[in-house]
Amino acid sequence: MLALLCGLAPDASEGRERARTRPQPAAAEKPVSAPLPPRRPSALRPATARPAIVPPARADQAVKPVARAAEASEPGRAGDATGSPADPAGPFPMGSPLPPPSACLADFAESGAEILPNPADTGSGDCEVEEPVTFKAIRTADGTVTLDNAVTLRCGFALEVVRWVREDLVAIAATDGRKLSKLVSTGGHACRGRNRVAGAKLSEHATGNALDLGQLLMQDGRAVPLYDREPATKALRESVRRSACARFTTVLGPGADASHQDHLHVDLRQRGGGYKMCQWTVE
Ligand SMILES: [Zn+2]
Repeated sequence: MLALLCGLAPDASEGRERARTRPQPAAAEKPVSAPLPPRRPSALRPATARPAIVPPARADQAVKPVARAAEASEPGRAGDATGSPADPAGPFPMGSPLPPPSACLADFAESGAEILPNPADTGSGDCEVEEPVTFKAIRTADGTVTLDNAVTLRCGFALEVVRWVREDLVAIAATDGRKLSKLVSTGGHACRGRNRVAGAKLSEHATGNALDLGQLLMQDGRAVPLYDREPATKALRESVRRSACARFTTVLGPGADASHQDHLHVDLRQRGGGYKMCQWTVE
């Protein structure tokens, strides 16, 4: 019996390690809404530290509070908790509870964003995204606003983006008698210099602290390019500008510089003295 246990021990331990370090499958995860545990050193980070998939909501679904379901997202933990005689002194003590999620990640799990697993590369060094979250849709009071490109953002900034969409952009569209359906030409984390200039100071995009947005698409098919000069949408674009400049510390759009003639850039860069930059000429 002892020999049997000894023979089994390495396999059991190795199996658990494989489970913890195995790359996240690209899709088809079990749909779960879950607060996230805080980041660990990447070498120790289990695959399940990534956000769990939240199933897309139907248009008639209200935003539901999400259940705490760390157990469901980490099935391997159940085996640990019951204890195995094969590996009593492994790197993860038996029965050790998962650390609680950060306040931001917990808030984000309930923000209305439909969370996706993070991409394999969420940056490192100067391009590391602090508490990364990835999402491609935001549930609102009366539907869902999708993004044409999933974005990975720093959690604190992502929360502000989700609130901007839910609280401001949806209301702005409604004042025009429309329902916001989609954010077009979205861009988030990207390890690059400002204005895509090689060697330039790193952009806020490098740390997931910035969002690019090209157009708003309404449910009735009406597209509102934010860089447009269409008189019919000027009031709406002006409202978007005011709301963006109230929420974010940097707003760059047409009129700011040559790099922002065809899209809007918003970020939460922190500057001395609380200085904010609102540069978007709506015409
Ligand atoms: Zn940008």
